[in-house]
Order: sequence, then structure tokens, then C-alpha cells
Amino acid sequence: MGFRTRFAPSPTGPLHLGHAYSAIIAHDMARKNQGQFLLRLEDTDIARSKPQWSALIYEDLEWLGLSWDEPALSQAAQLSSYNPALDQLEKLNLLYPCSCTRADIRAALSAPQEGAPHDVYPQTCKSRHMNDRLKGDALRLHLNKALQRLPDHISFHEEGPIYKGEHHIDAQHALQTIGDIVVSRKGDEIIAYFLASALDDIHQGITHVVRGADLFEFTSIQVILLSLLGHKPPIYHHHDLIRDENGKRLAKRDDAKAIRKYRDEELSPHDIRVILGLVVV
Ligand code: GLU
Repeated sequence: MGFRTRFAPSPTGPLHLGHAYSAIIAHDMARKNQGQFLLRLEDTDIARSKPQWSALIYEDLEWLGLSWDEPALSQAAQLSSYNPALDQLEKLNLLYPCSCTRADIRAALSAPQEGAPHDVYPQTCKSRHMNDRLKGDALRLHLNKALQRLPDHISFHEEGPIYKGEHHIDAQHALQTIGDIVVSRKGDEIIAYFLASALDDIHQGITHVVRGADLFEFTSIQVILLSLLGHKPPIYHHHDLIRDENGKRLAKRDDAKAIRKYRDEELSPHDIRVILGLVVV
């Protein structure tokens, strides 16, 4: 199989140096391997995604000299394409409705609970059934049942420099650190990010997912979701992160590092590669 990768930004703000780094690495890997580089807009967060940010993503990438080999895919424009996967998970009896608000979850997590780590859903709605689903409820994956359906050894292959190797998914660890994630969001009932992104990697025929190391910890749940749906996961390549002067990962709000700003200051795309350590000077 050929090499096919993608850059999958969420159009909720300007691209900054960290995005440029990710896009350039993925693009250059595709070109080096005579493969394809695709662009996917992860715009399912309807409230925060804005056409002006999508337009700026195209402009910034073009300015950086990156070209993508197929028209960009917008997740928001194909929301119904995710229904079969949600239906399949429902038929497998692996989903339950959840009406908890963020405040409910915070309150439940701050009450002492034996063995429940802090960032995992406290399972308040776990005994609810799909036929009690109310309009606007989120849907969560019943992770215990999901893991029971999977073979004992599921794994994914990582080729990036930090986590290189075969990673086996440990059921206990997944239960303790991931828990019952949301697959369909509360309120708008739109597919949640982890599932949409993993499904599109399959639909777009991605062979290598090239992305930042901050997403490594979510790979297990994406591989679990794909395995439940009968898909073989792609190969992953998590690259190191571009950090600010204080060692913090760059965030969307770090406008000072926005590519747009470098363009306005008349730096060149080559200068950006130099700043990112992607060319030897
Ligand atoms: N949409 C995600 C982001 O902007 C990236 C997801 C991925 O590359 O898998 O952080």
C-alpha cells in the first residue's frame, strides 16, 4: 500500500508555528515517500469553527508551499456519514445516553470515590438504556463491555521518534485512564472528535497518521473504536511539539506565533522552516 497522510486542523483559530511544524512534517513525509498528503478540516465543533479560520488555513498552507492532493474534506459537511458507525456501536449494545453537564461531572468527581481517577467520567448515567435516550443527551461508550468484545491483544504500531514501537492496549489501564468517552455530543448530538477523526482516517485511506505527541495518549481509544467497528488502524507517527520560551506547548491563543503574523512581518516560508529546525542552515 502507498503512503497517505493528512493534516487535520480544527478551524477554531489561526494556525501557529506548532501547526506549521505538523503540516510540514506530514507533507514532506508524503512527498519523500511518493505518497499523498490530504487536508481535513475537523470542524464538528460548530460553535467554535468559523469559515474565516478555514480560509486562513488554506492561505497559510499555500503560503508555506504545501499542496494537498485532493479537495479538503470538511467533517461538518458530511455529518450523516458518521451515522452508520454510531448505529453499529448501538447495535453492539455498547452505547448509553448521558445527560450530565460539565458541572455534574465535576461535582461527582470531587466527591470521594473509591478507585476513580479524576479525569475519567464518573459513570453516573451508566445504567441508562438507549431506549431512555432524551433529546440532546450525549452518547457514551460503555468501555467495559467494549473491551470484552475485543481480543485480548490489540495493539497499534508507532513510528514516531518518541514512542516508536508496538503498543499493546491494556484493558485495565484504558478503564482507569480513558473511561466511557463521549461519541455523540450533548446538546447538538453531533459526533464527537475522537470517533470522527479515527473514522475519517479510515474513510480517507490514511496509512500514516502524522500528528503531535500531545495526541498520543488518545490513540488507544481511537484504536479501540476502530477495532470495534472492524477496521485495522493506520500506522501512527507522533512528532515532538513546538514549545514556547517557557517550555509550554503552543496553543491557539498564542497569536504571537500565528503564521499570519510571520507573513505580515514578511518572513519567508524558508524562514519558518529555519525557525522550526526543519532545514539545516
Ligand atoms: N483536529 C486535531 C487538532 O487540531 C488534530 C487531530 C489529529 O491530527 O488526529 O488538534
